[in-house]
Amino acid sequence: MLRDEAGAERPLHSEDIQRLLDSPRDSLGFREPFESLFQQDQQSHREYQSRAGLVLGILIFSLFGIMDWLLMREVIFTVWALRFGAVALMLGYLFLSSRLRRGQLGQSQYVCTILIALAIIGVVAIAPASGRYVYLMALVLLLLFSFILLRTPFNYCLRSTALIVMLHNAVLLTVADVPALEWLSHNIFLLSAAGIALAANYLLERNERRAFLQTLLVRQQKAELEDANARLQRLAIEDPLTGLANRRLFESQLDEEWRRCLRQELPLAVMMIDVDSFKLYNDTYGHQAGDECLARIAEELRCYARRPGDCVARYGGEEFVIVWPGASAEEAGLEMQKLNEQIRRLRIRHHVSPVTDVVTLSIGVAACIPTANDSPFRLVREADMALYHAKKQGRDRCVLASPAASQGRADVVILNIPRP
Ligand code: GH3
Ligand code: MG
Ligand code: MG
Repeated sequence: MLRDEAGAERPLHSEDIQRLLDSPRDSLGFREPFESLFQQDQQSHREYQSRAGLVLGILIFSLFGIMDWLLMREVIFTVWALRFGAVALMLGYLFLSSRLRRGQLGQSQYVCTILIALAIIGVVAIAPASGRYVYLMALVLLLLFSFILLRTPFNYCLRSTALIVMLHNAVLLTVADVPALEWLSHNIFLLSAAGIALAANYLLERNERRAFLQTLLVRQQKAELEDANARLQRLAIEDPLTGLANRRLFESQLDEEWRRCLRQELPLAVMMIDVDSFKLYNDTYGHQAGDECLARIAEELRCYARRPGDCVARYGGEEFVIVWPGASAEEAGLEMQKLNEQIRRLRIRHHVSPVTDVVTLSIGVAACIPTANDSPFRLVREADMALYHAKKQGRDRCVLASPAASQGRADVVILNIPRP
């Protein structure tokens, strides 16, 4: 979700990501929600890399213990206490922060870098003049390792650089009391290494952020395409006014259910439903009210698709159709009478109707057990004919096409089901 200028929430669009990609600013930080998304993405795929880096770092750092032995044998316990104490503190911190599920990856990397730097600077304080350069190298290696291999976030790299340079200088000038030339060379070396590592870190993070945006853009475009596709598919089979299936979906469902009932020797019922005197309704209350009336009737009809394979569709205009696999004409007829009552109970006013003062329906029902040389369209025709008879007999009723007609043997015989 994004917020627009007025502060209202709106969904994310691919244009938002494209705009961010096109923006010439090279800052290492997106506006929300992109920054949170980027951080989540980093956290998930960098955790393993970071763990492997940590093991490698501890190994290299411990190997420097050999250097301590060679250079400072007389104070080796103090030096090793500093070195391995830092490793223990670092592991303790990582364990606790993972247990408490606190802190981000970048913050952990920063804390570990500082702990190791403190140990090295501590050793510089007690190292002989001949060994100080070795520990300066160790400090440089630490910066390269943390900024380039671990890819500590740039803002944390800046903070580490400032803190390390400050502490290192404090030790050189106070405890170690080095000559000016040595102090200068230490600083030139440390600052150049930090500059190179910072520049590399900046470029890496910038490229990583661009790559993240490009991946996000592709993902968003794919989602939008799928959404548009689903909407198009829905439009192709759904009636926009009522949300019911349209005639196209009805025909394909009818065909499918016809073949299924043929295989399983089950009956199939079709009900044609027409709103009575709807032209008069429109002429009296207006087209808009007519639309609302159709939508209300459709809502009631929707409940008549109960089982898998049932289909309720808008056949066209003010006509609807229902397909019920597995239902006989009598079962369907009884249910349609209930529907008739239900629509009457809605009491949608229709004071010019020749039937009564509310909206009513006329319904034609036909059913048969499909056979190979019969067709579903004949069944629809039969239901339509039953509907025609319902109209002819005065509307507001349900008429069943006879079973004889269903067999295609006799003329249509109409069984009128009177309203109770
Ligand atoms: P009958 O009882 O014989 O069915 O009479 P009727 O007036 O309902 O039938 P007729 O076929 O003469 O008129 C159907 C009317 O349905 C005409 C048309 O204005 C209206 N109609 C068709 N589609 C829509 C629609 O989408 N919205 C609205 N408001 N009216 C529609
Ligand atoms: Mg009609
Ligand atoms: Mg009508």
